[in-house]
Amino acid sequence: MRGTLIVLSGPSGVGKSTVVKGVMARCPNLQFSVSATTRPMRPGEVDGKNYYFVSREQFRAMIQEEKLLEYAEYVGNYYGTPEAPLDAALEAGQDVLLDIEVQGALRVKARRSDAVLIFMLAPSFGDIERRLQGRGDTAPELIRERLLRAQWEYTQAHQYDYLVINDNVDKAVDEIAAILKAEKCRTAQRLSYLKEDF
Ligand code: ADP
Ligand code: 5GP
Repeated sequence: MRGTLIVLSGPSGVGKSTVVKGVMARCPNLQFSVSATTRPMRPGEVDGKNYYFVSREQFRAMIQEEKLLEYAEYVGNYYGTPEAPLDAALEAGQDVLLDIEVQGALRVKARRSDAVLIFMLAPSFGDIERRLQGRGDTAPELIRERLLRAQWEYTQAHQYDYLVINDNVDKAVDEIAAILKAEKCRTAQRLSYLKEDF
């Protein structure tokens, strides 16, 4: 059976990477889609694991060679989803999780109607600001830009299939794992059982 494609978005600092780590540990059949980005590496990030860190020229070449399922500019940098590894994993029956911003997520939805879109929020906007500041790796002017972008992203959340509130990491991990489980129980995913001769 083809794997399930899960797309997670949410304001910068809401806790996506933290929760994704927990979800990956919980769901052995789930693969994280490693995006390409032109943004500089943060302390602790690993090239090829968190992102493929590429130059603008390399990114442009990926666009021209049609290697990206989607891409978007986000606060001065480019981010994109490599298409071939994603399809290889789905074909092999693995579930794939994308952590991407809203424009990209909506492009994926337009191109892959079976994609499941999850939007993550914090209890309040103030929490997001505090978390972003607390992470301590983003300059104050970039934090301001990311918060502005977050306000716009919030206005698009109604287009998503699920809304997860990250007030507690374990609870958010539970909810995403539950969504994945429920998606597997969809009748459309289990049509082969209906073809059995009872
Ligand atoms: P994102 O990937 O969405 O930008 P991160 O996962 O980097 O966000 O989280 C931003 C900061 O918020 C980190 O310092 C992280 O430890 C913290 N954080 C994540 N989830 C929670 C939570 N539920 N409550 C409090 N702090 C959190
Ligand atoms: P960050 O710089 O904090 O890692 O990510 C910034 C934003 O870019 C986040 O909202 C993240 O979800 C998004 N992002 C990461 N990879 C991709 C991608 O491949 N495509 C798109 N459209 N957004 C991405």
